[in-house]
Amino acid sequence: MTPSPPIRPGATLGIVGGGQLGRMIALAAANYGLKVHVYAPDADSPAFDVAAAHTVAAYEDEAALAAFADACDVVTYEFENIPHATAAILAEHATVRPSAHALLTTQDRLVEKDFVNGLGIPTAPYREVGTAEELETALEELGRPAILKTRRFGYDGKGQRTIREGDDAVAILAGFDGAPCILEGFVPFLREISVVAARGPDGAFAAYEPCENEHRDHILAFTRVPASGLDPATAAAAERIARAIAEALDYVGVLAVELFEVEAEAGPARLVVNEIAPRVHNSGHWTTEGALTSQFAQTVRAVCGWPLGSTARTGGMSVEMENLIGDASERWHALLAEGSTHLHLYGKAEARPGRKMGHVTRLIPKPAP
Ligand code: AMP
Repeated sequence: MTPSPPIRPGATLGIVGGGQLGRMIALAAANYGLKVHVYAPDADSPAFDVAAAHTVAAYEDEAALAAFADACDVVTYEFENIPHATAAILAEHATVRPSAHALLTTQDRLVEKDFVNGLGIPTAPYREVGTAEELETALEELGRPAILKTRRFGYDGKGQRTIREGDDAVAILAGFDGAPCILEGFVPFLREISVVAARGPDGAFAAYEPCENEHRDHILAFTRVPASGLDPATAAAAERIARAIAEALDYVGVLAVELFEVEAEAGPARLVVNEIAPRVHNSGHWTTEGALTSQFAQTVRAVCGWPLGSTARTGGMSVEMENLIGDASERWHALLAEGSTHLHLYGKAEARPGRKMGHVTRLIPKPAP
């Protein structure tokens, strides 16, 4: 198949989903002279503030989806939890990157884990769980603690519960209201890392070096680059995993692979895939100032069929990204007063607990030799 010609500056990039990720993709696209059209169901979507056009409609509204896709030269996502039919309708009317297949594979934890294991890449042990009996059997096989997760629609710790000794597992399952679930064995990880990477329609691939992620209350709190204590062989292995996943999905765009680093009995640490995000990712926010190409610019380059940019760190500096969650965004004035801290606020009206309101990036110069 001949690859489609690159999208030209001045064309319209469609973004499905209107959150902060869409907002930051739109800002990057504007820098390249593209027009952006955002599609989201919520009239208050943060991405609308910075887009040339927007559509407020449900993900099931076939006529609105078709009209949106007809108005775009290429369509991408900042939010993957859309019905499969939605992706299929978009693909009938526009070039959609990443593909509906990539979305389908990564939006369901069971399908995703089957896919990753099928590539010979380890994940946590897991069992499909629909009924109380299946849960009892899975707990016997995987032991406690174990983590019960809904197959779909989970994020920031929502749709998951740890089952410990003494917990009433069946009651926990009942709390998920019949949603299809998986049970995951608990992974005693040394650290959590992720690889954010891009792949173009021609197969070009570029990964950012692995970053280290610190979660608090199941929500990403800090990302640090370079990851402390990560040996170069493990870092290279993490990048190979991201590349194998991207190639197997024939992926076009930016994706993030979250990994657990686990102590091995002998030799270097082992890597276990936790999950794949088929889009730009919170653990890649550091790249806006910390790398020569931001993950948002990179996603625009990839989906437009343009050359990928350098993923090297800016000036070789160390980088820390801190999420501003809930009322932490009230610190905006003091953060600005730090002078060299880069502040990003997402324009959300209400700072509810657990809500990502913004982030800051700090570049830490290397000590003088
Ligand atoms: P997830 O929504 O799957 O990314 O999970 C959110 C967080 O829960 C992860 O970043 C880990 O800190 C923790 N977690 C998830 N799954 C496991 C597991 N199987 N073993 C240990 N910790 C886990």
